[in-house]
Order: sequence, then structure tokens, then C-alpha cells
Amino acid sequence: MLWAKFRLFLQRNWLWVAIIVGFTVAVLIPVWYMSGMEESVRRYIVGINVASLPWGILQTLVFVGFLYLLQYGGGFAQLKKSKIDASSVKVRFTDVIGLAEAKREAWEMVQLIKDRAALKRVGGKILHGMLMIGPPGCGKTMLAKAIATEAGVPFLSTAGSEFVEVFVGVGASRVRKLFKQARQYAQAYGSCIIFIDELEVVGKQRVFMDAFGGSSESNSTLNQLLVEMDGLTDDKCHIVVIGAMNAREEVLDPALLRPGRFDRTISIGRPNLAERQEIFEYYSRKVHLDPAVDLARLARKAVYKTPAEIENILKEAALVAVRGRRELINYKDISTAIERIELGVAHRLTMSPREREMVAYHEAGHLIVLYLLHPTDDVFKASIIQRAGSLGVVHHIPREELHLSDRERLLGHIKTSLGGYAAERLRYGVTTSGVSADFANAMTIAHEMIWRLGMGGDGLIGDFSVIPSGRTHEGDQLSEALKERLNNETQRILQDCYREVEALLRAEARILDRFAAELLRREELDYDEIVSVFMEYGKPPRPIPAAPGTAPAAPPLPAPPAA
Ligand code: ZN
Repeated sequence: MLWAKFRLFLQRNWLWVAIIVGFTVAVLIPVWYMSGMEESVRRYIVGINVASLPWGILQTLVFVGFLYLLQYGGGFAQLKKSKIDASSVKVRFTDVIGLAEAKREAWEMVQLIKDRAALKRVGGKILHGMLMIGPPGCGKTMLAKAIATEAGVPFLSTAGSEFVEVFVGVGASRVRKLFKQARQYAQAYGSCIIFIDELEVVGKQRVFMDAFGGSSESNSTLNQLLVEMDGLTDDKCHIVVIGAMNAREEVLDPALLRPGRFDRTISIGRPNLAERQEIFEYYSRKVHLDPAVDLARLARKAVYKTPAEIENILKEAALVAVRGRRELINYKDISTAIERIELGVAHRLTMSPREREMVAYHEAGHLIVLYLLHPTDDVFKASIIQRAGSLGVVHHIPREELHLSDRERLLGHIKTSLGGYAAERLRYGVTTSGVSADFANAMTIAHEMIWRLGMGGDGLIGDFSVIPSGRTHEGDQLSEALKERLNNETQRILQDCYREVEALLRAEARILDRFAAELLRREELDYDEIVSVFMEYGKPPRPIPAAPGTAPAAPPLPAPPAA
């Protein structure tokens, strides 16, 4: 162990050792020797040496350059310097926010690394590889670092894209180098963790039939990775490879998932409500946030956001605050930041007053239907400021992350989409081309409900889209009558929704006029402003469902109010 540590020290610091030894031999010894000579002889020797110094330096440089070229082939196979010791990583498990489930599995892994000796005595399987799968920005790298820190082993980090080169064999030689380095660390410290981000870049399925040989480079890189992972059975040096990827594991070459390679998977998901609040608290400590900002409310607003996106929101909000010459970031800044990230930056067109008014009514229609009829989604913002290709927007987000949509929710989407059309028709008798995106949206959902989800009213169930139809080589297996029935059913959903929406807007015509006027006056309305207007007409917001894991303060999802 001590000898291995000394060798590692030499391998890492050979340059300094060489410089100290060289300095002693080339300077200290001659000075000591010449100190006994006569003054004139000494001057003569020193003079000759100084005069020939430039030539000597030039020769040395040429020599070293040639050596370098021979050794490294021009530097192509160099790995980026990404070696980090465990002591310098210092990410504890408590620093990883949220991810309770993934952390539990990762903790088991830490135990496996620590208890390797016990495991070997029992004859258990020694862990060599683990996959972390999840959307980008959810903390995979943090978790891998935390595993290294808690297990107290060195951590080598690299990314799949570092192995991609045009030159055949360079990727493979980089893989070899990475594992060689890991083996040195493992010999010195007992274990070592290799972290490969973007594993799908190197690990995607091998292509064997390629006429141009275009894929042989990535094949050879992957083959080398497989060979190195199989070589990890050495008792003395324990190396664990952690691969992280965004895509699902099906894109990986099946050989990578075999026992002894990446045979364990931790899935890392987006944070839930309570975790998002923790993340907001964590990052808000790094910026100057107005203490009045309600982080719990922000966490509700940031449904489906990853930790990286939340960090980005707060940074963008800081920019907004700086531009407004404020010292503290307030709620409005954060709201503007979310909107900028989600909806794009505003760019104004010159519109005629009538056009602006039509847009205002259109958006007010969406807004009222969303607020009063949608069972799961909340309005987040309504605006008639033009942004990237749209004239106005009513932005809505689910109150809590949902993993399924039921019939009521899908109908809610359709009704909300039709709200703009209905408002234009009620107010002006004619409608505009502004409804095209809304119609496309409503039609897609209705079609899906009938053709694929069995949500129609006339008893047809099944996914009809899997049956070959149209000009396939199997012919058309859906009868015209059946297609007509399905399409009629789709149209019926749209008609039913439209009737409901029109009745609602007719009944609430006063609120429609009011919101159109508010939008024309203020251009955009935030959640609080929208709710306060509705409250004037005696329409409180639906209660927010309780966060999972806490006692329900209000009934979960209330039924949508009848129109
Ligand atoms: Zn619309």
C-alpha cells in the first residue's frame, strides 16, 4: 500500500522530482567544485558556459519535442485533465437535495464499496458497474460524487463525448488510458470510481453492417470499454464504473447491460413539490432574494422543473432585477424570468385597435374557460404581448405533477383550446385565423381520445391506430364505416365541448368583457391579478391539493364546477 502510494506520487509528480535532482547535479555540484579554483580560471569556465547556453537550450527543446511526438502521437490520445481526488470532491449525501429514492439505492452502493471484504468472504457478487438514468439537470453527477465522497474513494470523471474522435483507435486508446489511471488510483487507495457522463454517446448499439466503415471508430471504442469492464475482476484494485445517461437504457448496446457490466440501474426523476421547495430554498441562499417571496408558492408554479432549470430561473430573475436596478429579487422578477424561459422574449408588432381587441377577447375566452372548467390546471399568466409567433397567450400549468391524464383532464384541455374561438364568435359573430393552433391542439387530443384511448361515448374501445390502414402493403384493414364512426365520434367530442364552452361564456359575458378590457389596459395579467378579478364576481380559485406525504388540508382534486 505504502509503496503503491509512493509510486503514484512519483507518477503524478515526476516533473518536480526531476527538476530538483537536475538542479542539484547541474548547479550545486559545479559551484561547490569551482569554489576551490583560481578567480581567472573560474571566470573563463563560467564565460564559455554562458556563451553556449542558448544553443544548448535549443538542442534540448528539439530533443524533448521529438520524444513527446513519439510518446503521444501528436497529443491526439490525450484525455482531458479530469482527474479529481475524493478529498477534493466533497459532496456529501446531505448536499444532494431531494432524490430520496435514488439516494437510498446509492447508499446501498456505498455500503457495497465499503464492505467489499465482507462480501468477498461470503462469496457475494462484487459491484462493477451502475447506470444512472434520468432527464438532464436532475443531479446525476452530484449523486455520483456523493457516492465517491461517502465511500472515501477517488473519483475520475469524464464524458462520453470525450471519446468521440474522427481518427480510428483514438477513442479506444482513451478508454484504455482512463482505466489505467483508475487502476493506479485503485492500487493506492483500495478502490476507485469512474464516472462516465453521456454514456449513450459511446454505448449506443454497435453497427456491424456499414459499407463505408463510418461506425467502426465508435464500435472500437465500445469494444474497448467492454474489454476493460470485463477486466475489472482483479482482486487488488476495485473499480466501479458509474454511467449516466438521459435516454432510456434501450439505446445502449445490450452487451453493456450484461451481468458484471452495468447490471444495476438507478433512475433519477424530476423533483416533486416538497423537493422543489427545498431546491428553491437551497439556491435562493446564493442570490439576494426578497424575504417576502413565498418559496412554497414558487415550488407549485415550477411543476416538472429540474434542479438545473430552477437554478436557471433564479439566475434569470437576478438579471431581471439588475436591469430594474433593484437590490433584491422580488416575486415579479421570478415570474418574468419563468415566462421568458417558457414563452420566449416579447417582441411587439404594430396592430390595429380592432385586431388588438379581438386578440384580447380571444385570450380572455381561454382564460375564463381554463379558470372555471379545467379540473387540474391553473392559469399562470395571460398576456396579449406578442412573442415568438403568437399574438397572445394564456399559460397554464397543472397544480401538481400528473403522470396520467383522465378523460376530464383531456376534455378540460379541449375546452380551454376552444375558449378563444367561442369568445370571438360570441363577441364579433365572425372568427379569425388566430384559432388555427387552438384547433390543431383540440383536434389532436380528441382524435387521440377516440382512436387510441377508448374515451368515446358509443362503446368503441381499443387502439385503432395500430391497425394498418391507408396504402400499406397489408392493405386497408379498417373499414370505411368504422373510420367514419370514429371520426364522427371525434367531432362529437369537439361539438359537446364547444356547446359547454359557449354556454359558459354566454353566462359569464360580464367577466369576458371585463377581462378583455383588463388585458387591453394592462397587456398582461398575473395569477394574483386574475384571481382578484374573479373574486369580484364571486368565483374563488379552486383549493390547491395537499402536497403528497402531508395530511390533506383540502380534498384532493375537486370535481370541475358544473357549467
Ligand atoms: Zn388561442
